[in-house]
Amino acid sequence: MNVRSAMCWRYCYMPALRALSGRRNHQFQVQRGLHSNIIEALKAATGTENISTATVVREQHRKDESYHSCKPPDAVVWPQNVEQVSRMARICFENDVPIIPFGTSTGLEGGVLALKGGVCFNLTKMDEIVELNTEDFDVTVEPGVTRKGLNNYLRDSGLWFPVVVLMWNGCPVTLVSGCLTEEIVKANSGSDFAWAKDQETRNKLWQARHSAWYAARAMHPGCEGYSTDVCVPLSKLPEIIVTTKEDLVRSKLTGPIVGHVGDGNFHCLMIMDPQNEDEMMRIKEFTYRLARRALAMHGTCTGEHGIGLGKRQLLAEEIGAVGMKVMREIKAALDPKNIMNPGKVV
Ligand SMILES: Cc1cc2nc3c(=O)[nH]c(=O)nc-3n(C[C@H](O)[C@H](O)[C@H](O)COP(=O)(O)OP(=O)(O)OC[C@H]3O[C@@H](n4cnc5c(N)ncnc54)[C@H](O)[C@@H]3O)c2cc1C
Repeated sequence: MNVRSAMCWRYCYMPALRALSGRRNHQFQVQRGLHSNIIEALKAATGTENISTATVVREQHRKDESYHSCKPPDAVVWPQNVEQVSRMARICFENDVPIIPFGTSTGLEGGVLALKGGVCFNLTKMDEIVELNTEDFDVTVEPGVTRKGLNNYLRDSGLWFPVVVLMWNGCPVTLVSGCLTEEIVKANSGSDFAWAKDQETRNKLWQARHSAWYAARAMHPGCEGYSTDVCVPLSKLPEIIVTTKEDLVRSKLTGPIVGHVGDGNFHCLMIMDPQNEDEMMRIKEFTYRLARRALAMHGTCTGEHGIGLGKRQLLAEEIGAVGMKVMREIKAALDPKNIMNPGKVV
């Protein structure tokens, strides 16, 4: 099942940016706090009830599920449709104010952090299914549609939007080729193989997958989690799992490994005491070693969590100076004033 997010640039931001293009290489200049005129203009665009500058609300939009954090955005808005997004994007553009899109804030690399202040666009109220083509296994959704919401909608169609095949603590669990996988697991001294034969068991397995992050964090109540992921060619997966487990032990870190056997992507969910600076340092060093190990195997420094805030240096190492320059130029072409989530990725 393919999902096209109707949020993307194409649907929401492009009309405003197309109309306003032409001013390039504009220096990004914004100060903390928004002028009252800007607040009033945003209110007019989306309705007084759909904007807040209250401290508690801004605090709720200050971070995602990752360990990264910074000051909150200056204001939060809840657009109801594409037109409102366009109108508010225009206001931000004309006033050099950063725009930070906000989905459900479950990102794991600090993507939603308002590093330079600005307006957080909370998109949860845009939750319509725009178009479903059952024959093409294709659906177009607004950005506030969640995985569960989509699957509820799809229930009667016989379709389902899955996430991925997974592995828990080195033991693969596949819903596609279970028998073969079970054989491989046994041949390699794997244990606790789980094979879903009915819907109820299948749901439980998926629930376990979706709760893995929270289960890991619950291992040490009061501690926080630091999740990192990499992706390597499939043939390199056993080798990198073994060396990563050895590295975790050597670094004296607790970090369950959860992975997607089908695509070579896996996560280390490290559990840490935020007061322990030495442990934090060991986690950061481990994360860099892991990413560089993946790069040396012709893999990538992130499988699905993205670059966000935490992996900018690693991205530069992965794609090199020329690659970075090209990406910066593409970003500048689409976002000439660098108001779209500034300070991230490139
Ligand atoms: C328990 C758990 C399980 C996860 N499992 C998976 C998994 O199986 N597969 C996987 O790929 N990832 C997984 N992730 C990580 C994944 O990156 C996020 O969960 C999710 O994709 C982020 O969506 P969000 O709406 O919460 O984004 P947010 O955290 O709100 O935002 C992430 C970034 O995207 C930007 N953004 C948000 N919405 C839009 C938009 N509509 N248009 C443009 N930019 C936008 C934000 O500004 C930010 O930079 C998991 C995370 C957790 C905590």
